[in-house]
Amino acid sequence: MTTRARDRLRRLPPVHEVLDALDDLCARIGREAVRARVRAMLIGIREEVLAGADVPDAAQVASRVRDGERADAGSLAPVINATGIVLHTGLGRAPLAQEAADAIARAAANPVPVEIDIASGQRGRRTDHVRPLLCELTGAEDATVVNNAAGALVLALATIATGGRVLVSRGELVEIGGSFRLPEIIEHSGSHLREVGTTNRTRLDDYARAISEDCLAILRVHPSNYHIEGFTQGVGVGALARLAHEHTLPMVFDIGSGLLRRDETGVLACEPDARGALAAGADLVVFSGDKLLGGPQAGVIVGRGDLVRAIERHPLMRALRVDKLTLAGLIATLRQHRDPAIARERIPVLRMVHTPVSALRTRAETMCDRLRRARIEAEVIETTAFVGGGTNPAQALESVGIAIRTPDPEALARALRTGSPGVFARVQRGTIVCDLRSVDASQDGSLCEVLLKRATESPPGTLH
Ligand SMILES: *Cc1c(COP(=O)(O)O)cnc(C)c1O
Repeated sequence: MTTRARDRLRRLPPVHEVLDALDDLCARIGREAVRARVRAMLIGIREEVLAGADVPDAAQVASRVRDGERADAGSLAPVINATGIVLHTGLGRAPLAQEAADAIARAAANPVPVEIDIASGQRGRRTDHVRPLLCELTGAEDATVVNNAAGALVLALATIATGGRVLVSRGELVEIGGSFRLPEIIEHSGSHLREVGTTNRTRLDDYARAISEDCLAILRVHPSNYHIEGFTQGVGVGALARLAHEHTLPMVFDIGSGLLRRDETGVLACEPDARGALAAGADLVVFSGDKLLGGPQAGVIVGRGDLVRAIERHPLMRALRVDKLTLAGLIATLRQHRDPAIARERIPVLRMVHTPVSALRTRAETMCDRLRRARIEAEVIETTAFVGGGTNPAQALESVGIAIRTPDPEALARALRTGSPGVFARVQRGTIVCDLRSVDASQDGSLCEVLLKRATESPPGTLH
């Protein structure tokens, strides 16, 4: 290091001087937390100074620490999902119904009898609160719930198939969302995968021939986030369950998205449902709480009483247990599912999926008019939206979007993301597309405000 560089570094303000300028922040988040932030900030600034930047004074460093703290606190601020992917894992999947959000807020701020049986005052099980609802809604004998569906599947297999083999069709060995790899999940449950059939064809006979002494379960996984086009052949759930039962094996069905019963509107016709899967003979059905169920992140297991009870006794159950917030949100969501029409009206995910295209078009036209009056080059276009969240991509949804023409769509996309609220849109053929399928109608006003602000902020002449 040159003498000059050393001199410049020496002029950096000491930690205590910066801290003195941050008394208000210390009062809010504690002196030690602020000290750690100041230290980290000074390390970064040292590098900048060595690279030739000006040496900041204590007030300037303090101001940067304050900005950093504000950015961290706001990193989970609500945003608008205009991607057209209703269940966007990157955006936290299902937004909850107001009733569920309220139930979570109440449970969060108060003691609630999570593990106490109110009548007897004795210790109860936390899953007792959701069991009756899950059984009522799916027709299951018994039910339980853990943190997420990946955990639910590991737990189910760890309980029924440890040390043995699990048969799975090659066509179902999916990777979901880049981190859910079925073969790895199966290995971590302590059981071993036995692949059956080929990627595009698996016949009942393939399963029958693969059953051996050490086989402990047959697993069916809804191939949620990919779709094999063309000549494919699979085995029905009923036939697979019958084969399993002939060999006294349990059949587990991971349906993924948490549709509770057949969608009578036909919009989600490709999605398997929990009630149907159990009626067809599946012994255990596993699904997520925050996909088409429209609730908080959770993994639900419904099915045969003896198997569910064994699952609840497994030590992993404790490691994967749900908290009171999840329980409160899940119960409120399930209560709305008792009436399918109410569920479609009150649960945002279902409301979005079932909104008629004509309603989306009317909303888009209203917004587009406003944008055009501000001389933004916007037009209403037809789009294809998706349910998303690892659910069937063949499940495309007809939709409507607003396309904004701009010479630098990536720059506008970035500006929208950092708006207030942030807007997540698609960049498509040189335009920004805000797909309204994933936007709740109540957010149209804010979406329009951000578009007006950000699109007119672009340097003059860039919009044409
Ligand atoms: C999404 C999905 C999972 C994982 O669910 P998480 O709740 O995210 O753990 C597992 N299996 C299938 C078929 C899925 O679609």
